[in-house]
Amino acid sequence: MHFDLDNTLEVAARDYEIWKNTDLDSRIAVVKLIRNQLIEQKFKYATSITKDMHKPISQSLAEVEKCAKLCNYYIEESKRILKGRTIKTGWSEVYLTNEPLGVILGVMPWNYPFWQVFRFAIPTLLAGNTVLVKHASNVPNAAVALEELFRIVGNQQVYFNLPIGSEQVENVIANPVVKGVSLTGSEAAGKSVASIAGKWLKPVLLELGGSNAFIVCEDAILDEVVPVAVRARMQNAGQSCIAAKRFIIHNKLKDQFIKKFVKELKTFKFGDAMNESTSFGSMAREDLAEGLEKQMRDSINMGATLVHGGKRDGAFFEPTVLTNINVDMPVFKEETFGPLAVIMGFDDFDKAVALSNGSNFGLGVSIFSKDVNFIKSKIASFDEGALFINEMVVSDPSVPFGGIKNSGYGREMSDEGLLAFVNKKTVVIK
Ligand code: NAP
Repeated sequence: MHFDLDNTLEVAARDYEIWKNTDLDSRIAVVKLIRNQLIEQKFKYATSITKDMHKPISQSLAEVEKCAKLCNYYIEESKRILKGRTIKTGWSEVYLTNEPLGVILGVMPWNYPFWQVFRFAIPTLLAGNTVLVKHASNVPNAAVALEELFRIVGNQQVYFNLPIGSEQVENVIANPVVKGVSLTGSEAAGKSVASIAGKWLKPVLLELGGSNAFIVCEDAILDEVVPVAVRARMQNAGQSCIAAKRFIIHNKLKDQFIKKFVKELKTFKFGDAMNESTSFGSMAREDLAEGLEKQMRDSINMGATLVHGGKRDGAFFEPTVLTNINVDMPVFKEETFGPLAVIMGFDDFDKAVALSNGSNFGLGVSIFSKDVNFIKSKIASFDEGALFINEMVVSDPSVPFGGIKNSGYGREMSDEGLLAFVNKKTVVIK
């Protein structure tokens, strides 16, 4: 089917004029309709995810339900967040209003095809903007299902799927109709989109890769920590920006940790992604699995030891564990976007901090210890967007989410996500 980009941009700009003048109660009512439709048809939407990127159906269903949770959060909170504020000054009245910016482009990844789009689109729309979504090329079913779902709005359209290649993104950002861009994706895509947005002076929010550390201190209880560690690494076949990728374990616990970690991996159920009992699926594409295999091989050639797994069959990559890691290896220096855990040891906590910070990414870190006060005293020494104590790094609609360093800038979710694409207009009355 022929897709007319120029016409779509024109319609998005025209519909923005209507949508921005639609009151917040009516916008919230639309989000309620979207949420209801999402839940009523959750199997249909989950199937589109599984079809596109092989996620086991039980996890696709969980992804859809999480999108509904995000809708609920903003249905409850958007009035409070968008209210603006008054400022006491020498003038008789000073206040801020939060107004929409216009048409906002979202460039989205395939790893959570619904969740990533929801956490961009719902707050951006509630703020009164309309959205264009250039979804990843390998999730066409999810991309179309999302546009249909957001059509529920009625006569006007507020969400436009752009079935275009990444080489056309520049033209979209350059178009005067587009007033901002949000990208969730790789470092390379982030650099490209940020430089184009810079050239055209458009605000940009970047949610990029991560290589989170997972630190286990000497006093942690391994039977509690290991199941969390396995989930933190192996969720979504390891294809999560906030997955724990580098395990930094106190040397007194390291051997036991590895044994228990591998034992837990053996409980996974492989099989047909549409079968509800399948707990571990293939990676999204064969080329991605090949890339991970190369990172693993190159690291083994540099001295890493393969403890478990390591085999690949097409897009399927066995849950894998490597030890004897050094900081020059690809599995330490680069993001490993698949089911591969690297395990290192430390004796002194400062060494664990240095290893954790020794990555170009800065999305988040998890630290497990009974001594929460000690860890709290060290918060400032971590170069991260988030620090989770005795918990894996997760995303939650009520908690700001985002990174520093090569993990990007800006925050999604919570108040920050709803205020990401607004004009904070200052009003002063003498
Ligand atoms: P990707 O290759 O960067 O693709 C993401 C999106 O950007 C896709 O829509 C892609 O389009 C587009 N794109 C790629 N190169 C581009 C360019 N030069 N200019 C404009 N658009 C471009 O990333 P991915 O493989 O889909 O996703 C995995 C990455 O996303 C990982 O690094 C992961 O950590 C990161 N991620 C981050 C977060 C976060 O919140 N921080 C969340 C999820 C994922 P095509 O598909 O058409 O190439």
